Amino acid sequence: MYCNACGKAIAEDGRFCSHCGNVVGIPPAPKRLMRSRVDRKIGGVCAGLAHYLDLDVSLVRILWFFITFACGIFPGIVAYILGWIIIPEEPLFLPVAASQQPVTS
Ligand SMILES: [Zn+2]
Repeated sequence: MYCNACGKAIAEDGRFCSHCGNVVGIPPAPKRLMRSRVDRKIGGVCAGLAHYLDLDVSLVRILWFFITFACGIFPGIVAYILGWIIIPEEPLFLPVAASQQPVTS
């Protein structure tokens, strides 16, 4: 393939042009476990887990609820608070990859 900035041939799987340093294509966003800002009920831990595991948020909350009660409430609450403290909150503005934007033209 060719660099879309300088037009020189570059490696097929290369993410950067070795000639001009241009970023070729959209690098896949690294998947990180983050607490959700928009989809939270308490601390966004369940929503963050759901996003990370590609599960439904409600399913994760129900699972968390049942696991919490099955384990005697306290461990589940401690785990939630630990997650709240340890898992970083997602940034206010997530970088949107160009490939994910709807084509309107
Ligand atoms: Zn280039």
